Amino acid sequence: MVDIHIHTSFSPDAVGKMENYILKAIELGMKTIGFSEHINLDLEYYKMLEGNTDIEAYFQEILRLKKVYGDKIKILFGGEVGFDKKIEKQAEELIAKYPFDYIINSIHLVSGEDAWLMPFYKDRTKKEAYDLYLDNVYESLCANYEFNTVGHIGYVIRRAPYDDISMTIREFGDKLDKIFKKVIELDVAIEINTKASKTLRFLPTVEILERYFELGGRKITYGSDSHDTNRLLDGYEEVKNFLLAHGITETLSFENGKEIYNKI
Ligand SMILES: [Zn+2]
Ligand SMILES: [Zn+2]
Repeated sequence: MVDIHIHTSFSPDAVGKMENYILKAIELGMKTIGFSEHINLDLEYYKMLEGNTDIEAYFQEILRLKKVYGDKIKILFGGEVGFDKKIEKQAEELIAKYPFDYIINSIHLVSGEDAWLMPFYKDRTKKEAYDLYLDNVYESLCANYEFNTVGHIGYVIRRAPYDDISMTIREFGDKLDKIFKKVIELDVAIEINTKASKTLRFLPTVEILERYFELGGRKITYGSDSHDTNRLLDGYEEVKNFLLAHGITETLSFENGKEIYNKI
């Protein structure tokens, strides 16, 4: 059981204390835990909203807790970069400055607009909003920084206010194929993220994941995207059963960027 998408109180929108996550993980019998604080560098947007992760403080706490709990559990130092063309250079510099074990590359801002908030959807049809989002995901794969897994593909489905929120292969297959072909070419993973919504078990959706497998994709990371300790490993069993049913027996984690395969 390896969960590598976790936010602690170092992320501006999360509350769980890192040490409490570690204690819970040890209690649950986890051998590895991966933290992935937000790296949102679009200051114009985020500073006024909620501030940013203090990466130095985050790193120091990782070092401290590794000393305390390192013999009981492997603690990984990751980051979730919110890709945005404007901050690509800054992200590259920050990633180079710290010894991250891995980077999750995610889209939260779509062409500068926050896809978590309703104005993004207001004047767009589903087709327009999803197409734009998927174009941004593809652009994020061409980022000039290195990353190890692609966060929550299909993110817009979590928040879309449309009657029919589905992102079907029939409608969006071309763009999804382009994304998956690039993922496979880059030899990175995609994430199964269980912070979905009431109607979704996880992201990407089953149909989209099956398309990834069909195209030859095999590399999967699992992330609860916890913002508090109570969601650690949330939905893990369901993801595990889904993966086993599709012949995938391992999920990936990363140490110093190096792939580690974990039997599920
Ligand atoms: Zn995210
Ligand atoms: Zn996240």
